[in-house]
Amino acid sequence: MSTPVPGIETVGVVGAGQMGNGIAHVFAVAGYDVVMSDLEQERLDAAMEVIDGNLQRQVNRDLLSVEDKAAALSRIKGTTDLADFGSCDLVIEAAAEVEALKKDIFRALVEVVPERAILASNTSSISITRLATVTDRPERFMGIHFMNPVPVMKLVELIRGIATDEPTFEIMRAVVASLGKEAAIAEDFPAFIVNRILVPMINEAVYTLYEGVGTVESIDKAMKLGTNHPMGPLELADFIGLDTCLAIMNVLHDGLADTKYRPCPLLVKYVEAGWLGRKTGRGFYDYRGEEPVPTR
Ligand code: NAD
Repeated sequence: MSTPVPGIETVGVVGAGQMGNGIAHVFAVAGYDVVMSDLEQERLDAAMEVIDGNLQRQVNRDLLSVEDKAAALSRIKGTTDLADFGSCDLVIEAAAEVEALKKDIFRALVEVVPERAILASNTSSISITRLATVTDRPERFMGIHFMNPVPVMKLVELIRGIATDEPTFEIMRAVVASLGKEAAIAEDFPAFIVNRILVPMINEAVYTLYEGVGTVESIDKAMKLGTNHPMGPLELADFIGLDTCLAIMNVLHDGLADTKYRPCPLLVKYVEAGWLGRKTGRGFYDYRGEEPVPTR
């Protein structure tokens, strides 16, 4: 494992959900001090439990020593108070995919972080240029889009806003390398590269279900065995979170003004029902029993 990038010692992570806890995990393993925030202590406790379990999995696979696991855990501090980000050199926002919420977080962050700190968002689709405008440092603002599950997936998309300066970009490129990951550089257009291609495919799978072309089982089986995808699109949608998938379709639809990106009404219905996938126990599959059971 490489060493932390000089000048970046403490990394703040806002939001301790499935992405935030993964981001905290990989930075702590790479030797950075991490401050991770969420709205409630319970969510932080749950995140620490997930991180502990995921680190243990790496120990079991001989990817990490028991000592390194303990050291990584000791480097992560949970907080419900953004004021604790006062010593961060870099802050990565990983709260829900809602532009107004992200902007509120960045407005609050600039009040507490040092002037030198780089601000970044793990947004899946929202304009980096637009998010940067609410800060006092659009030149030190970037998109850093991790893939789920963060400790496992190699790729990180790096997105410059219109004002991002070269030193910031180079530091973030070095940060990605220090995590043992590969960067793909994307321009700041709705959903960047990965989700511009992936999420419309998921939306099309939901239309295929909505129109009765296939069942949940047959659609996922067709795509797994027919195209060699490791997960079917509906299984993957549940894994990503159906609220996140819908939010990305809305960003594509609004941002590119093309009706080919209209979200499937069935996806909207699942989100309205609170059936958001794995994280809520039910989506296109029901995860509350021993085995996932299709919900249609
Ligand atoms: P999630 O719902 O699992 O987690 C979001 C967390 O943010 C929650 O714990 C919530 O309590 C917390 N939060 C909300 N407002 C907050 C605030 N003001 N301060 C601190 N914490 C706050 O969502 P997720 O799947 O982790 O997604 C987070 C971000 O990462 C989104 O922008 C999403 O688009 C992006 N992303 C998601 C995936 C994926 O596969 N799920 C992949 C890449 C990027």
